[in-house]
Amino acid sequence: MLENVKSVILVLSGKGGVGKSTVSTQLALTLKERGFKVGLLDVDLCGPSVPHILNLENENIHQGTDGWVPVYLDKEQRLGVMSIGFLLKSRNDAVVWRGPKKTAMIKQFLEDVYWQDLDFLVIDTPPGTSDEHITVMENLRQIPQCSAIIVTTPQEVAIEDVRKEITFCRKTGISILGIIENMSGYQCPTCNECTNIFSSGGGKSLAEISKLQFLGCLPIDARVGKLAGQGLAAVKELPDSTTSKVLNDLVTVL
Ligand code: ADP
Repeated sequence: MLENVKSVILVLSGKGGVGKSTVSTQLALTLKERGFKVGLLDVDLCGPSVPHILNLENENIHQGTDGWVPVYLDKEQRLGVMSIGFLLKSRNDAVVWRGPKKTAMIKQFLEDVYWQDLDFLVIDTPPGTSDEHITVMENLRQIPQCSAIIVTTPQEVAIEDVRKEITFCRKTGISILGIIENMSGYQCPTCNECTNIFSSGGGKSLAEISKLQFLGCLPIDARVGKLAGQGLAAVKELPDSTTSKVLNDLVTVL
């Protein structure tokens, strides 16, 4: 049920593995730390990684009188998480589903989760522009404020996929908040110097060409991978990082 949601932020990427779930999770945590009431909804059927990142893989969803109850990360219930991964017996289950089953699942997921009043619902979507995305968009029409953040890596090949994502948003009428370039150089944990392992600046130039806001570069941070799977306390250890600065700046434009 989305009636009680003030604002939805879709996190999109042209392809998988560029850090969409990492950005979604970090953004939800940043918003919670800033005092907002937040929901994090993971509808990435191809690879629901939010339960892993937040160490919630053994959580089971239960049905309350008003719908599915999200898993709350804190006792104040400021951050609720719902992932398609909670419902799958095996991570490979959804991969073999046909399109109609996938879209039915996403529809049910959007309609049947009982979110209490939320300031923000962050949605981690599957990569690309598929039927699943159209289902998500159709169900979001009732939300007054709905916008998208596009995550890319600096390489040209990822950027090409992002162009399709931008076209998709424009065709479906979803406003784009901007582009984040993830894994943009390696930041040395000892001296903080950033080395551009791959090309750099692709996200920024794409933002300029597409007349979109560039929301910043997130470096490859060795702690991101290490902390995944260790739960909330570990994920919160990133506050002094570049990632945290970029996301805090982003929160101010939401
Ligand atoms: P997606 O949701 O786009 O498939 P993920 O967020 O699951 O991508 O990230 C893919 C992998 O890359 C994960 O192992 C994650 O820990 C790692 N990763 C993502 N962003 C960063 C980063 N900025 N620094 C280091 N590792 C990262």
